[in-house]
Amino acid sequence: MEGMIPYGRQDIDSADIDAVVRVLKSEFVTQGPEIPAFEKKLTELTGAAHAVAVCNATAALHLACLAAGLGKGGLLWTSPISFVASSNCALYCGADVDFVDIDPSTYNMSVPMLGKKLEQAKKAGRLPQVVIPVHLAGQSCDMKGVRALADRYGFKVIEDASHAVGGSYGGRRVGSCEYSDLAVFSFHPVKIVTTGEGGAVLTHSPELARKVALLRSHGITRDSALMTHEPDGAWYYQQLELGFNYRITDLQAVLGQSQLRRIDEFVARRREVRDRYDRELARLPLTLPMQAPETESAWHLYVVRLRRDLVRKSHREVFDAIRAKNIGVNLHYIPIYLQPYYQALGFKKGHCPEAERYYAEAISLPMYSALAPSDQDRVIQALNGALAER
Ligand SMILES: *Cc1c(COP(=O)(O)O)cnc(C)c1O
Repeated sequence: MEGMIPYGRQDIDSADIDAVVRVLKSEFVTQGPEIPAFEKKLTELTGAAHAVAVCNATAALHLACLAAGLGKGGLLWTSPISFVASSNCALYCGADVDFVDIDPSTYNMSVPMLGKKLEQAKKAGRLPQVVIPVHLAGQSCDMKGVRALADRYGFKVIEDASHAVGGSYGGRRVGSCEYSDLAVFSFHPVKIVTTGEGGAVLTHSPELARKVALLRSHGITRDSALMTHEPDGAWYYQQLELGFNYRITDLQAVLGQSQLRRIDEFVARRREVRDRYDRELARLPLTLPMQAPETESAWHLYVVRLRRDLVRKSHREVFDAIRAKNIGVNLHYIPIYLQPYYQALGFKKGHCPEAERYYAEAISLPMYSALAPSDQDRVIQALNGALAER
């Protein structure tokens, strides 16, 4: 049997390795000059005024929510078709969470559904303080639409851009925060660029950036201007808030800088993989990914949906037939509220019908910059085989 083709994986070259080795031999391996240098590169990439790098995107979402003022008794809305981290961040803050159904063609949070839900929430007297649109597969949500509703209803917008590093919206890079208060990146190895574990918060607001940076490291400052009284001595630091250890390391930050040199190459290569899938799968009974006009996806994922009217096999049978060929297809995602943990909070099947339809049909095909053409052939063959047999 040929080797397993994963759905995603990192692309590390010798320059990446050399950069990490250089830092390993240097004075600092944790909190040194590479972290601010990485953060500067992230602001250059996106056009956001500030970037704060942290240990992963889950931590980034938690800190972004706290900086946005989410707390006990608060309410956050996000998309049900995302990784659990997009909604767990609300629970970390002691807030409640709810889900806005997805658009049937982009699979991102539907802005018309968001508008409708906000109207009802206003009547019921409980509006969300934070909304997290998730840029599924690397394609930006309709951020102008989200912004217009944020201005009307007064919530903060945090983009979960974990999939979308290197993508763009309205001619600007995702992470520019043109239509949001904060944006979050993930640098997990299956994402577009990697630092091993890693994440970042981007924002235009100096206050939000300062808050995130403070909470990243225990809520502690050594800046006497921020302290309640004069330092006791040169050793003194002061804890201003209850923070965390969500720091990233210099080893990771130098890898991130090295990876960012190739961001356009990575995304271009993913677009080639997409073009080939688009061509080769066009005649199969599948719905292929669609691109909204203002977006350029970073192509973290390539999601196909089974045409239920044309495929007699079950979703599970098709999925298992491809897996049996050692192709690591996956499913992004189980609607979050269908997790037993969320059902125990009171969510029920039927809450977001469009998300549930998606879940019954979607399959993520292998998609990464280092995917060899011969491996992509194997994926296409396996898919043809799985859909041909009746
Ligand atoms: C990967 C991912 C996260 C979490 O990222 P980590 O860096 O692994 O914590 C959050 N949201 C989405 C949509 C993701 O895909």
